[in-house]
Amino acid sequence: MPFVDSTDVGTTVRQKLTPHRRLKVWEKTGGRCVLCSGRIDGVRERWIVEHIRALELGGSDDFANLGPAHQACAVQKTREDHRRAARAKRQKIRHIGADAPKRPLPFGKASLWKRTLSGKIVPRK
Ligand SMILES: [Zn+2]
Repeated sequence: MPFVDSTDVGTTVRQKLTPHRRLKVWEKTGGRCVLCSGRIDGVRERWIVEHIRALELGGSDDFANLGPAHQACAVQKTREDHRRAARAKRQKIRHIGADAPKRPLPFGKASLWKRTLSGKIVPRK
């Protein structure tokens, strides 16, 4: 599921899931995991309602974006989603200029040294 949208990295507010909504989500796929498409044994296996597109990646909290998933599959996906969200946030921070560069440009205005017109390198006062 490729996802490329660096402009929207806002986290969507999560709604409380009622047992009725959980049942509706389960019946949407007939008890199949949305991540590995394997059948979920609701009695013996732990399963959760997964946000197919993660909330932290701008996914919506409505029924179309929900599906049942094995707990184990979801843990893996969540790890990948966190990695993506962190990356999207870093990109946005850089894009809007909220982060100053850590290393000054060599001999630039912020550098402690300057190069004169004759090519000599002297300390900037
Ligand atoms: Zn699964």
